[in-house]
Amino acid sequence: MIDIATRINPAVSAVISQLQGRHLIANELVPAAAGATLDVIDPATGQLIGVAPAAQSKDVARAVGAAVAAYPGWAATPARQRGKLIADAIHRLADHAEIIATVLALETGKAIRTECRGEVTTAIDIAAMYAGLASELKGETLPFDPQILAYTSREPLGVVAAILPWNVPLVLMMLKIAPALIAGNTVVVKASEEAPFATIEMARQLAELLPAGVINVICGTGRDCGAALVEHPAVAKVTFTGSQAVGELIYQTAARKIIPVSLELGGKSPMIVYGDADLARVVAGAIAGMRFTRQGQSCTAASRIYVHASLFDAVFAALQEAAAKLVIGDPLDEATDIGTVISQRQKARIESYLAIGERTAGAKVMRCGELPRAGHLTDGLFLQPTIVTGLNEDSPLMREEIFGPVVCIQSWDEEDDVIARANDSELGLAATVWTHDLRTALRAVRRIDAGYVQVNQNLTIQPNLSYGGFKKSGLGKEASLEAMLEHFTRKKPSSST
Ligand code: NAD
Repeated sequence: MIDIATRINPAVSAVISQLQGRHLIANELVPAAAGATLDVIDPATGQLIGVAPAAQSKDVARAVGAAVAAYPGWAATPARQRGKLIADAIHRLADHAEIIATVLALETGKAIRTECRGEVTTAIDIAAMYAGLASELKGETLPFDPQILAYTSREPLGVVAAILPWNVPLVLMMLKIAPALIAGNTVVVKASEEAPFATIEMARQLAELLPAGVINVICGTGRDCGAALVEHPAVAKVTFTGSQAVGELIYQTAARKIIPVSLELGGKSPMIVYGDADLARVVAGAIAGMRFTRQGQSCTAASRIYVHASLFDAVFAALQEAAAKLVIGDPLDEATDIGTVISQRQKARIESYLAIGERTAGAKVMRCGELPRAGHLTDGLFLQPTIVTGLNEDSPLMREEIFGPVVCIQSWDEEDDVIARANDSELGLAATVWTHDLRTALRAVRRIDAGYVQVNQNLTIQPNLSYGGFKKSGLGKEASLEAMLEHFTRKKPSSST
């Protein structure tokens, strides 16, 4: 067994040891009030990385209190000055990017080269985009009456609670806190108890240049920390990314409090391949779109691929070949394409779906590539990219979000039929269409019931392209100016003679 300390450099070890059992409240690292902690496990080795604080209501009250105290000063800071402070902090984030990416790889099991460095860069890009939008917090004048000045202004909401999952915590944190802060709100982030350290470290670096209490990060279980945060009377808005079940609970509490919520929930995104599509691009797009390098742990994963019957056999074979070439290994190794899944619980859940596939008459379950053999990875939560075909549309593998490296591939003949199958889901987060015929592409985009539809590409969230799900995939948009104005400000109409 190789010890964690020998796998990471001393600068990374030093950061992790400073964060042990600590929240970030009012720019200080503070232990949980009751001293309670939660273990954080390295999913590649099964070793303990350290402990996260386990917040109870006292910790929640302390963090919200810090955000309440910081709010009047921050809200009164000119918007462009807020933007400048965030822009200055970006340089600091860039200087710490490699340490943050390494911590992220260690706690999530995502490969540093293919996933974690890019995640830090994207989070910084999002902060930069919003810093540049500070001047856009403007209102309107209205042609009401020549004797009356009628106008609208944008005001912040107050304290925003941002609740995060573990799969892409840094990008998701920045999508929430950058627009909230630029708009003049203060924030309390609830980090995922499974991957807290990179989140707290990134927030700490950002907070260093901001007034104390503007950004606070707490950690704990969903029940003791997350639910208590949503319930707190001073929380004026909740922005959440995570599961549908928790999203529903948060929505109920918010309804009782009559506060706004944004919800980014699950996905079961279709990828529709027409007969004229380019085989090589489709296969590369399927590998990227399925987010195999993230072990499929992505809400926008293209987890249902529908290929026109004329191309099906070629795509099915080429996809297996491409998936088998991905290197599964130590997330910290530069040669690794795919690391681990997050937890034993998630691994067991994914395997239970594979077992259903294997029991289904006529279905084929193709596990591709080699699991790592290195001794220190024996207890690692590795899974092979897996391609499943021959399922019915009502199979749980076709209908439910697996959140693992499992893609289902089916064939189709008639466009009406494939569009109906693609739309036959209570989720509607994303979709892609693959064709070289512009009319076909535009027709399919119009008919697909999903919040983000791409043609001949399968990218993740792009800064300034409004992102958010339809149907039970969510409420509200992220990543854009529209998202900042609609979800982190309130509009006040005024008039005076
Ligand atoms: P989860 O819903 O279990 O947890 C998300 C966060 O909510 C965690 O911090 C958790 O502690 C907290 N939480 C749990 N119970 C709570 C409660 N009662 N009140 C308040 N907070 C509570 O999700 P997860 O397992 O961490 O993440 C995976 C899920 O996230 C998947 O379903 C995935 O689709 C979704 N996701 C969606 C998007 C998107 O943009 N739509 C992006 C990433 C992940």
